[in-house]
Amino acid sequence: MSETVGDGPVDLEVDLELDRAHSARMYDYYLGGHTNFPADREAAGRAVAVFPAALSAARVNRRFMQRATRRLATAGMRQFLDVGTGIPTSPNLHEIAQEVAPEARVVYADNDPIVLAHAQALLRGHPAGRTAYCQADVTDPAALLAAPEVRGTLDLDRPVALSLIAVLHFVPGEHRAHEIVEHFKAALPAGSTLAVSHVTAEFDPEGVTRATEAYRAAGTPAQARTKEEFTRFFDGWELLEPGVVPSHRWRPDPVDGAGNITDAEAACYAAVARKP
Ligand code: SAH
Repeated sequence: MSETVGDGPVDLEVDLELDRAHSARMYDYYLGGHTNFPADREAAGRAVAVFPAALSAARVNRRFMQRATRRLATAGMRQFLDVGTGIPTSPNLHEIAQEVAPEARVVYADNDPIVLAHAQALLRGHPAGRTAYCQADVTDPAALLAAPEVRGTLDLDRPVALSLIAVLHFVPGEHRAHEIVEHFKAALPAGSTLAVSHVTAEFDPEGVTRATEAYRAAGTPAQARTKEEFTRFFDGWELLEPGVVPSHRWRPDPVDGAGNITDAEAACYAAVARKP
């Protein structure tokens, strides 16, 4: 499989594993997208049956990504690294960043071949900026940061806006997700930012527990984390206002209509921090 998109032909003869559910395609289903298949819809349907808020949580999470990106681009960030990007759903991160700053450079990374297959949609950026896609796993930050798509697009000696949006709950284990985040944080210079959202069971313990069981049954281990565990991702960095909050409460925009959403329907914590 070719791992580079943009400069050469893309070999799409990858195994999309259509016989089993994938988290990227289940998420696409929640968002009302069309890049999902029977196994994904079946698994997503089972998750929604026990946790109907999956649908609102996905939408609210996506809007957090958009608000955080707009905020960071407005504050002067010009380099973005988005890991666990998902299937393109407009507006994507580069569209928001380049709307504010056409020269913004964006690297997307995901480990799902379906995202690679659709990566062209992520690469149609503003001619003044650059966008690249890197097939990589968040659990190997060293390899991800060394990838030619990252090195060829971003200057890692200058501030980078790293986003890990709705991806770390797919890294189970007590310490692993935090070790991964610390690796990324150490590799980025002062002035870099970190935007994270993550499922929590604190607002609807029963529903979220059943949903994570549905994911596990579908072959995707997932783990909710507490506010304390979530907040530790930002240790040593300065949280931007309003700190750690349910995703719909992070600098809400009246046009989002988030006023009608409850914390249980958002189901995720979100925050953005800056490296001092
Ligand atoms: N960040 C997007 C998509 C979230 S869905 C958004 O918030 O809208 C979660 C995404 O994380 C999926 O695309 C899935 O393929 C990706 N993902 C899950 N585990 C991953 C891993 N180990 N490495 C990289 N990406 C991963």
